[in-house]
Amino acid sequence: PNRIALLTSGGDAPGMNAAIRATTLYALHHGIEVIGFKHGYNGLIHNEWMALDEPVVREIIGSGGTILKSARCEEFKSPAGMQQAADNLKALDIDALVVIGGDGSFIGLTKFKQFYPGQTIGIPGTIDNDIDGTDHTIGFATAVDTAVNAIDKIRDTADAFERIFLVEVMGRKSGFLALNVGIACAAEHIITFENFSNPGIELQHIASKIHRIKKSRGQCSYLIVSAENLYPGGANQLASDLADYASIECIPCVLGYIQRGGDPVAKDRILATHMGAFAVKQLLAGHTDVMIGIDGQHCLQVPLASSTKHYKEVNASLLAIQEDLQDLL
Ligand code: ATP
Repeated sequence: PNRIALLTSGGDAPGMNAAIRATTLYALHHGIEVIGFKHGYNGLIHNEWMALDEPVVREIIGSGGTILKSARCEEFKSPAGMQQAADNLKALDIDALVVIGGDGSFIGLTKFKQFYPGQTIGIPGTIDNDIDGTDHTIGFATAVDTAVNAIDKIRDTADAFERIFLVEVMGRKSGFLALNVGIACAAEHIITFENFSNPGIELQHIASKIHRIKKSRGQCSYLIVSAENLYPGGANQLASDLADYASIECIPCVLGYIQRGGDPVAKDRILATHMGAFAVKQLLAGHTDVMIGIDGQHCLQVPLASSTKHYKEVNASLLAIQEDLQDLL
């Protein structure tokens, strides 16, 4: 390719800038020109772009958010929107499009193949880690750290007042954040998609555990970490149901958007650099319609469409260990 374009789409994730930097520098190193479309797929449709060169990306490896901005774009879901986007890419002589985003962005990119004949590559950037075909997504490690730092503070006040806190973390339809954050915070109870059966059973389960712990330890702090989009009505409803069902007073706390912000931790910067450079290598080798993943120490490519087709389960052995440890409480 002589000229490629990048964009960031969907929920922003710390490390997206590091991926923009690595892809840009690696492409420039191989004599490829780079431009960046702004505001996700909106920029493609409305022809809003900027040139990406060394000075632009020089100092962004450690900054959160994305210099290209991110957005959702309903228009891109229509054939007319996709056609307009493809026309703009053609007019700008763009040979390849690299999209840094989550599974929705990749579904869009897969469909876009019908309109755009150039090469397409996806780089997984989402705090949810919910993309099949890669051990980790860019942003996940930072989001785990951010949530753990916040919950450590919540634990301090929970300890001081011997209170029960219910913290809801992000993850969309995936339990990676909840499980990893819960383990790192030594949560007494973790609710993820994999271990949740139904609201009634969950209530019973939590209530009996809290009563058991109170008997053995006396009044103490108790931390529940839950994935979002799981218990109907979320953390507030679960807290209110616990009060009704078992007279248990628990303080709901939805961590929210702080989980998407902040400077990327070193692990995300390194992952983004690895994936960005590997993406350019794949373009040079003529590959298209693939997503970049990481498997252990190595980057690999997987068919773009397959990354969005399967539900990626959390690490079953980690979940089992957590459950065994909780039995001791
Ligand atoms: P995250 O999960 O981190 O929020 P995401 O990429 O999954 O990121 P989505 O909002 O699901 O976020 O998708 C981002 C954008 O991808 C959408 O706003 C839309 O522009 C495009 N997109 C998603 N689904 C489709 C689809 N079925 N057809 C065309 N485009 C789509």
